[in-house]
Amino acid sequence: MPTNHQDSAHSISGSDFSQRLLLWFDREGRKNLPWQKNPTAYRVWLSEVMLQQTQVATVIPYFKRFTERYPTIFELAAAPDDQIMHLWTGLGYYARARNLLKAARLIVAEHAGQFPNTVEGLTTLPGIGKSTAGAILSLAMKKRAPILDGNVKRVLCRHYAVTGWPDRSETLKQLWALTDAVTPTGRVADYTQGIMDLGATVCTRTSPQCDICPLATTCLAFGSHTQHLFPEKKPKKKLPTRETQIVIPQRVDGSVRMERRPERGIWGGLWSFSELPTEVDATQWWRDQEGSEPGDTIELPVIAHTFSHFHLVITPVLLKVNDPTPRVAEVDSCRWVDPRVPEGLGLPAPIARLLELLSQTEG
Ligand code: SF4
Repeated sequence: MPTNHQDSAHSISGSDFSQRLLLWFDREGRKNLPWQKNPTAYRVWLSEVMLQQTQVATVIPYFKRFTERYPTIFELAAAPDDQIMHLWTGLGYYARARNLLKAARLIVAEHAGQFPNTVEGLTTLPGIGKSTAGAILSLAMKKRAPILDGNVKRVLCRHYAVTGWPDRSETLKQLWALTDAVTPTGRVADYTQGIMDLGATVCTRTSPQCDICPLATTCLAFGSHTQHLFPEKKPKKKLPTRETQIVIPQRVDGSVRMERRPERGIWGGLWSFSELPTEVDATQWWRDQEGSEPGDTIELPVIAHTFSHFHLVITPVLLKVNDPTPRVAEVDSCRWVDPRVPEGLGLPAPIARLLELLSQTEG
C-alpha cells in the first residue's frame, strides 16, 4: 500500500539522492540534445516550452527550425504572429506559442532582451511557471532552483511513495518541498538534466526499469512492488460533447475560403473555416451572406477532437461555389487558400488533416 512520504523523506538524505543521480547522469544522461549545445536562457526557455506536454523526439525538429529562423529573442519578438503559429503547427497546445511571443516581446521591450534571473522575475512572464523558471535558472544560468515537471513528479512520487494526484494542491506542495530538498547546490545543471532524463528514460510511465535505476535501493514504490500505483491518476471526470459544423466554400479552381479564429477561445489565432451551429443550412447561409447561389454541398467525414474540457465533434461541409468573384474581400482574417500549399498559416492539427484530404481529392 502507498505510504505517506513524510516518514521516509526524513530517512533519505537529499545529497545521497542527488549524488547517485549525478553519477548515473555522468554515465547515462543525455548530453547531445540540440538545446544542450550553447544552453542560453533563450534556447533553454524555448525547449522547455516546447517540451511541456510533448515528447523530446517530436520537439527536436521544431526546436531546430525555430532556432534557425529566430536565433535570438530579438528575431522571435519581431516575428509576425502568423509565422509563429505556422511554425508551431503540429505541436498542439497553441496557447504555448501565443505566450511564447508575448513573453519574447515583453523581454525585449522591458528587459532589453535579457531574461530575469530569479524565479519571481521569470514567473511574471506569460507561459513561464515555477518549473520552467527553475529549468531556465539551473540549466542556463547554473543557479540552484528546483524543477517539477511531469518526469520529476513521477520519479518523486514513486521514490517517496507520495499519495494523491500530483496536481492536487496539497500533493503539489509536498512535491515542491521534496524537489527542493533533493536539489543540490553544486552541478545543478547536470542534476536537473539528470532527473528529467531518469524520468524520461528509466522511470517511465508504463514500464519503469527499476533494475537499472540508481535510486532503486531507496525507492519505496520499488521496495513494495507498487510502482504502478504512483503517481496516482487524475480523478476521472466525464467530458461533455459539443457538436458543430464547419463550412468550406470551394471555388472551381480548388481554393477554399479560410478564416482566422478570434484570439480568445479554442484554436485562438489559428486558421480554420466558418463555424456554424449544426442546425444551420450551409446553402442558405451562403445565400444570405454572399447573395449568390452556391452549387453542391458534400458532407465530409466527421472530425472528433478532444480538448481538455470537452469533446468536439465537427461536421465539415464542402460547399461548391460557382461565383468566381465572391464578395468576401481578401481581408486580414479571411483568405482563399490553395489546400495543397497552405503556406504561412497556423493550422490546428485536425484542420491541417482536412486540407490534406481536400488536396488529395483535388489531385
Ligand atoms: S526504482 Fe523504479 S520506480 Fe523507483 S525511481 Fe527507479 S525506476 Fe522509478
